[in-house]
Amino acid sequence: MSLPIVALVGRPNVGKSTIFNRIINSRVAIVEDKAGVTRDRIYARAEWMGHEFILIDTGGITLDSGEIEEQIKAQAEIAIDEADVIVMLGDVTQHMTNMDETIAKMLYRTKKPVILAVNKADNPEQRTDIYDFYSLGLGDPIPVSGSHGTGVGDLLDAIVGEFGDKANQHEDDSIRFSVIGRPNVGKSSLVNAILGEQRVIVSNIEGTTRDAIDTTFTNNGQKYTIVDTAGIRRRGKVYEKTEKYSVLRAISAIEESDITLLVLDASTGIREQDKHVAGYAHDAGRGVIIVVNKWD
Ligand code: GDP
Ligand code: MG
Repeated sequence: MSLPIVALVGRPNVGKSTIFNRIINSRVAIVEDKAGVTRDRIYARAEWMGHEFILIDTGGITLDSGEIEEQIKAQAEIAIDEADVIVMLGDVTQHMTNMDETIAKMLYRTKKPVILAVNKADNPEQRTDIYDFYSLGLGDPIPVSGSHGTGVGDLLDAIVGEFGDKANQHEDDSIRFSVIGRPNVGKSSLVNAILGEQRVIVSNIEGTTRDAIDTTFTNNGQKYTIVDTAGIRRRGKVYEKTEKYSVLRAISAIEESDITLLVLDASTGIREQDKHVAGYAHDAGRGVIIVVNKWD
């Protein structure tokens, strides 16, 4: 069973990180709490009323360069690509801004549920001040205060209300695996080598929730599905070069898989990112096969 992914988007300073911390304070377990990750953790497992999910603070994923506007667009794209539920945050003290409108316009393009919350509604007057956000066209704004915690329960109710039967979406008899690793370790070559030996490639199936392209094949009567692998799907978006994004990508793939093949490069050894990914798969209770490539 894979966990739903919930992404927080919004312009800088609306309080994404504050809300993120609020929500994960009620979490079951911290997934990533290692040195260097704690300060700007962007993802964590969270839980509300018995529903577990993965929360992503997209504001923590920044491109190496680029204007604020470009950063925010990349963050919104990541949410659209990766999340099952998107939460857009506004700031009542700044009212609605042009940048909020820009983000909302990007979110119109997704079929995924988008929940609008307006932060910094710390008192009753501010809670009644949120109504100009209606014009974003994203439905009823939910007033929240990350500082005080008010409204966060309502927001969480709305989030888990969108999960539907996501947990049951992969009820088939195939063994689902993903191929994960840093750039250039040889993921594509490995996938091609595996598929090349299979005479019956069944299909590329459009995933239900995430539009992932899954490749299914049969070997010795057993059906296998390769989950959305970078080696198969090349999207070439700018943000794909950022390290945090690739860890996030790996996490999504692990969540969708029964087994993860973690590919290492024998010529360069184990890197920090490999440890993150292995640790995450371990915490998620997934099988991991460590594949050491370039063992010539
Ligand atoms: P981010 O850039 O969207 O992640 O925003 P942050 O979470 O870093 O918050 C930006 C600023 O807003 C910080 O100074 C927070 O203390 C403040 N802030 C966050 N939530 C609230 C809130 O509910 N009420 C008020 N008054 N301030 C808040
Ligand atoms: Mg932040």
